[in-house]
Amino acid sequence: MKSGSTGFENSLEYAKRMDENDPLKAFRNRFIFPKVNGKEATYFCGNSLGLQPKSTQSYIERELGNWGEMAVDGHFHGEDAWYHVRKKSKPALAKIVGAQEHEVVAMNNLSSNLHFLMVSFYQPTDKRHKIITEAGAFPSDMYMLETQVKFRGLDPNETIIELSPREGEHTLRTSDILDTIRKHGDDLALVMMSGIQYYTGQLFDMASITKTAHEVGALAGFDLAHAAGNADLSLHDWEVDFATWCSYKYLNSGPGNISGIFVHEKHAERPDLIRFAGWWGHDEEERFKMEKGFKPMYGADGWQLANPNVLALAAHQASLDLFEEAGMERLRSKSEILTQYLEFWIEEVSGNSGIIEIITPKSTKERGCQLSLLIHKGGKAVFDELYQKGIVGDWRHPNVIRIAPTPFYNSFLDIYKFAEILKLSLEKFAYS
Ligand SMILES: *Cc1c(COP(=O)(O)O)cnc(C)c1O
Repeated sequence: MKSGSTGFENSLEYAKRMDENDPLKAFRNRFIFPKVNGKEATYFCGNSLGLQPKSTQSYIERELGNWGEMAVDGHFHGEDAWYHVRKKSKPALAKIVGAQEHEVVAMNNLSSNLHFLMVSFYQPTDKRHKIITEAGAFPSDMYMLETQVKFRGLDPNETIIELSPREGEHTLRTSDILDTIRKHGDDLALVMMSGIQYYTGQLFDMASITKTAHEVGALAGFDLAHAAGNADLSLHDWEVDFATWCSYKYLNSGPGNISGIFVHEKHAERPDLIRFAGWWGHDEEERFKMEKGFKPMYGADGWQLANPNVLALAAHQASLDLFEEAGMERLRSKSEILTQYLEFWIEEVSGNSGIIEIITPKSTKERGCQLSLLIHKGGKAVFDELYQKGIVGDWRHPNVIRIAPTPFYNSFLDIYKFAEILKLSLEKFAYS
């Protein structure tokens, strides 16, 4: 039976047929699935921690082998010479975020990188000092902005402008964001917000936001924790000034693993830009002269501080090689359909009950793979029941369940199973 305008059908056969015809179906078997209550889970939490590729172990073992066999010589010898290890991840990262290779580098952790980038790209003056961000940003981002502003001797309450949805709405309207940028134009130093909002799943129009910020003389930077490896990004063409992300969500690189940064080419050769430097950002040719006077490397590399964790990078690379194999374009195109299918099933199951409200925007241009479900009744009990039945999503206080089907390892059948269990859980806890 066909239903709605999407052409999806609400049958098990249909889900199986969609999986059969999925050009990326073989990738599912390249990941390790966790267990819940002794059974393989149906995993929708790639927005929080991506699954482990089966290849990760051998990538790490290879570096352990290099370390064991060569010890200090491993820095300069062999095909994996650690001195140049930063170069390995660049081709894949550049494709994932839509950048030139010299505009990206893997380094540090996300929260640390937010700070280091702010040191360079938030340069408040008496006249221009304000920052626009979204209200309800991820805590690390809020703390980062608050303390960066204090670090500059300014008052966060007067300096940080938070964008909130209109009364009765859950997400921001692009026109409201752009109007706010224009309104504060003369005082505005920076727009710094997420690419995809972690709570609502809203994908912001980074191209228009950046363009408008530039028109008023401000810069634009984005936290891409939920966007990297999820949405189509063209940071270079959009002329975004800077961005950073983590690698353990959609980039499947392991808990707490290395972050990455983007610095636009136009800032590539600006030794005048203030930065907190370390030896790994210093001119590679002269690094071992151990002399005074910091001379930054060209591009994003000039923001590196420390020599990177090679074991962490090995895990990162295992996943990035899968991205190279699958290609962002194919991943995104499956992802859009998978999320629409999830939306179709949620509407099928909750019907007109009004109990589930999807707060993520309906348009695929305004969202990644995640749907955020506001549960108006029995939310936590429904969530706990889903978990007990093997569905791993996540719960966000006070009443949101986030479900993120990823194109790498989720199937149409996963969503069918989710819908069946959701239906039973609602009957048990929400309709009663
Ligand atoms: C996941 C996430 C973080 C986490 O920061 P870490 O430094 O990696 O611990 C920060 N900001 C946003 C928006 C996130 O989604």
